[in-house]
Amino acid sequence: MKQLVEHDIRNSFLNCTKGEAKRLNLPRDLVEQPWGELDFLGWRDPQAPDRAYLVTELDGRPQGLVLRSPAAAAWQARRSICSLCVTTHTGGVSLMVAPKAGPAGRQGNSVGAYMCSDLACSLYVRGRRETGSGGRMPESLTLEEKIQRTVSNLAAFIAKVTT
Ligand SMILES: [Zn+2]
Repeated sequence: MKQLVEHDIRNSFLNCTKGEAKRLNLPRDLVEQPWGELDFLGWRDPQAPDRAYLVTELDGRPQGLVLRSPAAAAWQARRSICSLCVTTHTGGVSLMVAPKAGPAGRQGNSVGAYMCSDLACSLYVRGRRETGSGGRMPESLTLEEKIQRTVSNLAAFIAKVTT
């Protein structure tokens, strides 16, 4: 994806108030992110470990989501699969809950999905980061197809949050 600056990121959030978007904590090393290898930028709030964020470029503009990640439960130590990039982890997948955009979100509705806890899906797909154990299940897809799948899984998740 194209490199984004702070202004783009803060303006991209679909499911929080403008005030929240202005205050939330961005990654400290924005310029050093491996933008060329990212399908989306995802990060944990450095000051609030139960909060996470992701921003991607969809339909030609940055679109971001605020996520809540409840504290890891015992079952999360089991082997589980990220619903975006389909990487298998032992203990490295978290339930991420996105408040819905607009009035539905203000009424407390949300959408949840299991994702890589560090939101580094793009790097796992490209083999740039390894899971602790086991690694990926063997698949016949090409890298391009795996990237496409991640992108479309994310687009589908964003669509659920915004509709
Ligand atoms: Zn993932």
